[in-house]
Amino acid sequence: TGTFIVGGNWKCNGTHDSVEVLVNGLNAGTIDANVEIVCAPPFVFLNQVLDTLDKSKFSIAAQNCWIGDGGAYTGEVCANMLTDLSIPWVILGHSERRSLCGETNDIVGTKVAYALSKGLKVIACVGESLEERESGTTMKVVEEQLAAIANVVDKTGWKDVVVAYEPVWAIGTGKVATPDQAQEVHAGIRAWFANSVGADVASSVRIQYGGSVNAGNCAELAGMEDIDGFLVGGASLKAEDFVTICNSAK
Ligand code: 13P
Repeated sequence: TGTFIVGGNWKCNGTHDSVEVLVNGLNAGTIDANVEIVCAPPFVFLNQVLDTLDKSKFSIAAQNCWIGDGGAYTGEVCANMLTDLSIPWVILGHSERRSLCGETNDIVGTKVAYALSKGLKVIACVGESLEERESGTTMKVVEEQLAAIANVVDKTGWKDVVVAYEPVWAIGTGKVATPDQAQEVHAGIRAWFANSVGADVASSVRIQYGGSVNAGNCAELAGMEDIDGFLVGGASLKAEDFVTICNSAK
């Protein structure tokens, strides 16, 4: 399904100097021509990364943006500011923002619709908690997260959305989903798109897996039919590991 797409979510990590080291390492990496890569530094380092990262190999994302127009919203960054800097992508609905910053399904849906309307491309994150998985509600939870986006995004908008399936229990835990566990949910997400949005979107939407992806487990995951890329946290902070992950496409 489309070009394999790998995102590096640097989360709230780094210093000016460590970002310089990471960017130099990424620029020195040899990347397969047929993979799309998106690096998401913290806001304060966006300009540094814009100025130094090799844009012929990597594009850039913000990790969040405000729900609507800019204005008196202290501490927030709005979509227009990102497009003003020619930043093409934004990650929205990450589980850390859902659980730690109170972002509900409706807020995430509104953010996605607004960001798309301003010309940003979106990596929209979904995923269940351990409790939800153990109680058998994984697909229900994921479908509700997707429906909140589908309710406010028209069908043509999905061409600029990548879905990142990130089971919360796998994020930052070292407990990666097995290839079969990930594939099962990815196939379920694609089936949901076919039923709820349209067969064309179901076949074209790219679905990333995220959660403890590393240089050692990426190849097997990348071989699964419905895994179209990765969203990488910890391992995206090490240039060599991230380049290995980027080159793991089937
Ligand atoms: P880890 O790769 O550190 O588990 O994080 C995954 C993630 O949340 C990417 O957005």
